[in-house]
Amino acid sequence: MTTPHVIIIGGGSTGAATAHDLALRGLRVTVLERGEIASGTTGRNHCLLHSGGRYCVKDQESAIECIDENMILRRIMPEVLELNDGLFVALNEDDLAFKEKFLAGCEACHIPYRDIPVKRALELEPFLNPKVLAAVQVPDGVFEPFRLCLSFLATARKNGAVIRNYTEVTELVCSGQSVTGVKIIDYRTGKTETLGADIVVNATGPWAGEIAAMAGVDVPVAPTAGVMVTVNRRMNNMVINRLNKPSDGDIVVPQRLTSIIGTTSWSVLDPDLIEIPKDHIEKMIEKGQELIPDIRYTQTRGTMAVARPLIRKANVDEREVSRTFECFDHKHDGIDGFVTISGGKTTTARAMAEKVSDIVCAKLGVTAECRTRETPLVSYRLFYN
Ligand SMILES: Cc1cc2nc3c(=O)[nH]c(=O)nc-3n(C[C@H](O)[C@H](O)[C@H](O)COP(=O)(O)OP(=O)(O)OC[C@H]3O[C@@H](n4cnc5c(N)ncnc54)[C@H](O)[C@@H]3O)c2cc1C
Repeated sequence: MTTPHVIIIGGGSTGAATAHDLALRGLRVTVLERGEIASGTTGRNHCLLHSGGRYCVKDQESAIECIDENMILRRIMPEVLELNDGLFVALNEDDLAFKEKFLAGCEACHIPYRDIPVKRALELEPFLNPKVLAAVQVPDGVFEPFRLCLSFLATARKNGAVIRNYTEVTELVCSGQSVTGVKIIDYRTGKTETLGADIVVNATGPWAGEIAAMAGVDVPVAPTAGVMVTVNRRMNNMVINRLNKPSDGDIVVPQRLTSIIGTTSWSVLDPDLIEIPKDHIEKMIEKGQELIPDIRYTQTRGTMAVARPLIRKANVDEREVSRTFECFDHKHDGIDGFVTISGGKTTTARAMAEKVSDIVCAKLGVTAECRTRETPLVSYRLFYN
């Protein structure tokens, strides 16, 4: 019997993790990415390895996914993580009132935490606002998104996967009521080609709706943009979060020699055409200074905006939509051989991959189990070997 062939569209964290999972289960895998690896949302996000703290009060399903995956990624890809922890800090009475709910949320979601004295928090973070009223330490961290994807893909390639970047899917090929392949253009050669597949996985994040439309199906993915502002100095050792429900400008993530303030949230029609509103940048700098006042002495190194692939829910504001993920087997929409995985976070990419790979294997009659929880990834450096 020939090995089934799965085409994965999208070389962000979701597609990369899915390639690893399916290759490890022995399937023939091809990844198609229209740009460089991680050139979509993954390569321009906040780089926070979520502890789940941000969601533990209002979105506990997502918080539990985050802490579980945080612990797994520490085991399988230590090379691409900075395990610096995070602080949730109270700056006013409203934040202080939130603290009890936050601690209860950490307990409910099994997020390890330490309620530390303010004096200790200021020792750990000398630039933190000295008016801080309370601080809780959690196992946040920071990842390098490009290397994270390369680690998944280098391991997938070691297990036989073919990775084609600069290769865009322009059409889905259908036979009757099934997707049986894709038409592509390879931008390095200018050549077009048709590739056959037993199953096509749509892992295109905020572009998932566009790819699904090629098969005439709808996925409820709402591209929801957020702005981040990078300053030219690293102002914090740990991730600094506002101790309150998620809101604009409530987090400063250290990334190498810089700090990144984020973020906002608004719906966009086209993830390729996001204009950064000037007032969002000003707001990030203003709110960032509430957490770390000396940000006023830094210079802005860059501003960026990308779109989250949020799963749309009727009558729910984008700040309130769960950050969890969903997998759609389009057989239920009348189209077989085609599956979409979307939503979630880079932190939960491995879990997303497990879920979609379980569905792919069930559809193909493959019994191999997921082994990505315990399989260390090879170095991202091997991607280019
Ligand atoms: C402002 C912001 C901050 C965030 N911060 C964090 C954070 O700190 N931590 C965290 O864990 N998560 C964070 N997230 C969420 C996280 O970035 C996303 O959930 C994740 O990157 C989605 O990955 P993906 O692979 O599904 O999508 P993407 O990374 O967008 O990958 C999809 C890929 O598909 C490709 N593609 C599209 N169309 C085609 C086609 N026709 N042919 C071939 N390829 C195609 C695109 O080029 C793209 O590379 C943040 C999101 C936003 C918006």
